[in-house]
Amino acid sequence: MSYDTDNIFAKILRGEIPSFKVYEDDETFAFMDIMPRSPGHCLVIPKTPCRNILDASPEQLAACMRTVNTLANGAMKAFGADGITLQQFSEAAGGQEVFHLHFHILPRHEGQRMGP
Ligand code: 5GP
Repeated sequence: MSYDTDNIFAKILRGEIPSFKVYEDDETFAFMDIMPRSPGHCLVIPKTPCRNILDASPEQLAACMRTVNTLANGAMKAFGADGITLQQFSEAAGGQEVFHLHFHILPRHEGQRMGP
């Protein structure tokens, strides 16, 4: 499967549509999910083109995981969370809707029902 430069997250990276940025470095960008499934639900993406986990390079994965680690710890404090769910969907059959690699960070609280 190829990378479509018109996907929503590519447009966010190019500044063509707005987002609520929570973190940025040379390799990654993170922003709040527009339809949060828990308070603090945010998304981490590489700045370089990548469709999903199936075509991700070791460098893209390492950079994303560094940012995930930083933001997951930040979310624990900022949202008083008890835990974190990290999600990644690849291809439509895997639940992917936006075809630019992204990791969902979902802060969780004790007793909170675990959704999808
Ligand atoms: P997935 O591809 O992992 O199934 O889900 C894509 C995620 O992107 C969804 O959680 C959805 O709410 C989020 N999303 C879709 N469009 C936008 C958008 O324009 N802005 C932001 N911030 N999030 C979006």
